[in-house]
Amino acid sequence: MVTCRELLDDKIHLFTERGIENAAFELSELLGMVLGVDCRSAEYVQALGEEASDDVRQRLSELTARRISGEPLQYILGEWEFYGLPIKVGRGVLIPRQDTETLIDVIQGKLIGRNNLTAIDVCSGSGCIACAISNRLDCQKVYCVEKSDDAVPYLRENLSRHCADYEIIQADALLEETVNRLPDADLIVCNPPYLSMNDMEQLQTEVSFEPEMALYGGEDGLDFCRDFIRLWAHKLRPTGMMIVEIGIGQEEEVAMMMVQHGLVDIRWRKDMCGINRCVYGFARF
Ligand code: GLN
Repeated sequence: MVTCRELLDDKIHLFTERGIENAAFELSELLGMVLGVDCRSAEYVQALGEEASDDVRQRLSELTARRISGEPLQYILGEWEFYGLPIKVGRGVLIPRQDTETLIDVIQGKLIGRNNLTAIDVCSGSGCIACAISNRLDCQKVYCVEKSDDAVPYLRENLSRHCADYEIIQADALLEETVNRLPDADLIVCNPPYLSMNDMEQLQTEVSFEPEMALYGGEDGLDFCRDFIRLWAHKLRPTGMMIVEIGIGQEEEVAMMMVQHGLVDIRWRKDMCGINRCVYGFARF
């Protein structure tokens, strides 16, 4: 007989050979999924000592094969945590990243205590940012602008689960007519596509499974950002805040774009790796 623990060890060995970092963590998550229990639970620990049925072996092999082909763990699991919330993910949406939690920290620090906020999340994707904001701040409503047909089902599901009052606007955020469909806001947040041509040529295999529309920002990575700031900066209410996620080394250029479009008190903030990860500014009083 083969126990679940032996099966697990065997697969960890396989993942390690294939160069997958955190093999033990990833395999525990996958085995937990197959067994239908949280891999941090006592039930799971107990199951490790029991026999692995043919069905369990078969299903785990299927999942490990997907992972070895490069598919991200998060897509296989179908859910990933962002700012303490379980967010549904899959092909068609960018996977929520810890880097992006930096934006929520900043937003929370600046806007906590303000009531009845109107927030706009542009390029919502899975909706992780919108859900975290709704969870942490007193929002009257969160508007989510998302263009992709593949993303909208995830967005809808996550918002319905975590967001008190929201509206999805499925449209191209870089069209004037889209901007005109929304009210003025206290907060406009965006995690735009910001990878450059050069970045795209060197994508990690896992990232190449994610939608190019959510990653590629043109030759220098800033095409989307330039148009976004030009079109949206004037939608802020007085003292309203705009915040955008950026890639390595983009802070000065993005800050200049905000200056050009009339924002003040512009700053950037580092993520947990020490990389400047977002730029934010405010509309005048
Ligand atoms: N942070 C992502 C990456 O490093 C890029 C996401 C984006 O362009 N918004 O792959």
